[in-house]
Amino acid sequence: MDNQNIVFFWFRRDLRLDDNAGLYHALKSGMPVLPVFIFDTDILSKLTNPADKRVLFIHKEIQSLKQQLEALGSTLLVFHGKPLEIWQKLIAQYPIKEVYCNRDYEPYARERDKSLYDWFLTQNISFKGYKDQVIFEKNEVVKADGSAFLVFSPYMRRWKERLSDKDLQPFLSKELLPENLYKSSPSTLPSLADMGFTPEDVAFPERDFDQKVIANYHKNRNFPAIKGTSRLGVHLRFGTISIRKLAQFAIKQDEKYLNELIWREFFMMALYFTPTAVNKAIKPKYDRIVWENNEAHFKAWCTGHTGYPIVDAGMRELNQTGFMHNRVRMIVASFLTKHLLIDWRWGEAYFAEKLLDYEQSSNIGGWQWAAGSGLDAAPYFRVFNPTTQAEKFDPKNAYIKKWVPEYGTPAYAKPIVEHKFARERALARFKEALQ
Ligand code: FAD
Repeated sequence: MDNQNIVFFWFRRDLRLDDNAGLYHALKSGMPVLPVFIFDTDILSKLTNPADKRVLFIHKEIQSLKQQLEALGSTLLVFHGKPLEIWQKLIAQYPIKEVYCNRDYEPYARERDKSLYDWFLTQNISFKGYKDQVIFEKNEVVKADGSAFLVFSPYMRRWKERLSDKDLQPFLSKELLPENLYKSSPSTLPSLADMGFTPEDVAFPERDFDQKVIANYHKNRNFPAIKGTSRLGVHLRFGTISIRKLAQFAIKQDEKYLNELIWREFFMMALYFTPTAVNKAIKPKYDRIVWENNEAHFKAWCTGHTGYPIVDAGMRELNQTGFMHNRVRMIVASFLTKHLLIDWRWGEAYFAEKLLDYEQSSNIGGWQWAAGSGLDAAPYFRVFNPTTQAEKFDPKNAYIKKWVPEYGTPAYAKPIVEHKFARERALARFKEALQ
């Protein structure tokens, strides 16, 4: 087999063997497939926490994939470095004909893949990307004139109209194993310590989703004290679950849940069409807002000491677990941008550092939505009242008490801003910028 051409399958955010589009196409190529994963130092070098939960999650999943592939007589080559440098080494070692992967739509990934594509061409290697992490990508769901939707409901309607059974059909990648794999002895896996990270015991959300949670999603999804949401964000982010499988289940079980999966694609589409949204307001006038950016207030928000219990509970849940309930994400984001008049980019960056399910498009989408500057945002004069939100969605204070044990005692912080004052200040400041 040594002189025979081979193809590589490059795992990125699709860490599973079953129903994997790019892997399926690689296995159908007629050439033996050698899988590879790269811990990309361009990404990892930006992480500040040595026990970053996302890295621990990926490492665990990579270890499991490697074991599964080794049990089939092949392996997963795992590297730590810059993708181009790794590929330069690999082409010197293997007779590579093609490299397969699944497409990634984030601005960094698109640029990386574009320059790799050009470089592979110079090496006579074709670099092939497939749609895998979404049902509809790029401009598959757009207005009749080809432009992007700016509002969710018509996007969602078009998404549903366009959907056919074909879009949900699984790719039978696992079924093509092991005979189409490149036979190999086991390779070595860089340890977390080799890469500058510290192992820690973390209980990650189960990938085998709780079917009852999804079936009752429409009833329970807004109450942070109960487990009313699926906690599948991290699995969707890293592709440890197939979106086709999940969407198929959602279609049968709960339309509200399906709609959330469509929000995910709506925000991906938005970032695809407007990559500048990473650090610029989608509605440009919002970049004229004069923010307070008070550092002490920001610190109180980050650590969960604002004196607004639902905000503090959310921030402490995030700091301790890497998760925050969606309703609470909306409340804390509104509080930061409106009550404290702190730039949404600060909040976005803090979430990006802490969230286990961090997804650039959804995070930017969620933050710009809260600040009013993004797609489908409520008008700026609708400011969430954290007290009435808590009364409505945590009526027994169960969520608050779980995360803020000193709530209701003299030890609990006094509000850092007064609601009425903060609301009026925000309205005036936003009005000034937007006129
Ligand atoms: P469920 O409620 O069970 O939903 C299932 C899946 O649908 C989610 O895992 C997610 O992939 C998708 N989804 C649900 N709601 C949304 C939404 N509003 N927008 C986009 N996708 C959605 N989601 C992320 O995945 N990563 C982020 O970094 C992120 N940052 C956010 C920041 C802010 C300020 C806000 C308001 C929301 C953000 N969201 C983000 C959306 C949402 O809060 C999370 O997807 C959800 O809370 C994750 O929990 P779950 O997996 O139990 O979701």
